Amino acid sequence: DAFYRELPKVELHAHLNGSISFATIEKLIARKPHLNIGHSMTAIQSGQRRTLEECFQVFKVIHQLVDSEEDILMVAKDVIKEFADDGVKYLELRSTPREEKNTGLTKKNYVETIIEAIHQCKKEGVDTEVRFLVAVDRRNGTEVAMETVKLAEEFMLSTSGLVVGLDLSGDPTVGHGKDLLPALEKAKHSGLKLALHMSEVPSQMEESDLLLNIPPHRIGHGTFLHPEMGGSQSLVDKVQKNNIPLELCLTSNVKGQTVPSYSQHHFPYWYQSGHPCVICTDDKGVFCTNLSLEYQRAASTFGLSHEAMWKLSQQAIDCSFAPDALKDQLKQRWTKLRPAVL
Ligand code: IMP
Repeated sequence: DAFYRELPKVELHAHLNGSISFATIEKLIARKPHLNIGHSMTAIQSGQRRTLEECFQVFKVIHQLVDSEEDILMVAKDVIKEFADDGVKYLELRSTPREEKNTGLTKKNYVETIIEAIHQCKKEGVDTEVRFLVAVDRRNGTEVAMETVKLAEEFMLSTSGLVVGLDLSGDPTVGHGKDLLPALEKAKHSGLKLALHMSEVPSQMEESDLLLNIPPHRIGHGTFLHPEMGGSQSLVDKVQKNNIPLELCLTSNVKGQTVPSYSQHHFPYWYQSGHPCVICTDDKGVFCTNLSLEYQRAASTFGLSHEAMWKLSQQAIDCSFAPDALKDQLKQRWTKLRPAVL
């Protein structure tokens, strides 16, 4: 449906290494033929599903393919251009800084290279505003989380606002939020915005309650927060009282099997009460999707009009971590880019 491509969009939940397209994976495989990695190992095709555990294995394979500054620069530039081609006018990318002994990559280089990719895309006239969230992988524990926050704070200051926040992600069945709380609170205190994966699997209620007390600026997934999914009204109350937007990724949740089908997704639970919801891709490469498709999928599954989808894309601007001046600019662009069919 051409409408959804034409619709100006905001992407707020995109993991860099999960967002690598088929075409870029080809280039990476050609650089590292000795790894013997095939496409079936890096993407979950349409109709296929994996357990969440298997999804996290896919990221390990991709990380083998992306292990040098050169790789990261190419991957980040390609991903930014692909989002721009899909009509994304404002993109918040997130990624977990990694060090790789064999290529000499440090965590600092890792972030610097992504910042360089953002600058190069800007110079080349790629039509999207990009900001970056430094990601904390929950499996790595307290100390690494604290180190990562320090790195994010340094970059927030040195990049004059390109690094806007901190993400908490990684396998939700590993580690506990309480060990990461001091690092997250420090990050928030220093002015970083917090986008935290929360209640992605059942039995994270206690952790979600702790994280909601911070409170974060946005929630990733939040699949099991509400009572109908085994969560609780008190968790829902905390989310609503603080008006914390949810980043919702339909295809990711269905293919990763945390949600049994599109129609059983938690999107309408929140959307119907007027709570801010943002449609996002999560990992467009791994889950073989793009943001236009996610908008179209939400509309067709829940019977939403083009006008309703337009409103969703417009409201996403206010859920972003962009400074107010940029939000105003984006709102003006939206007015200009309003599709003629509306
Ligand atoms: P990277 O941070 O750019 O390397 O992107 C891949 C990483 O993002 C994975 O290793 C996970 O830590 C994280 N990630 C991607 N998708 C998900 C998800 O659905 N839930 C939790 N973490 C995720």
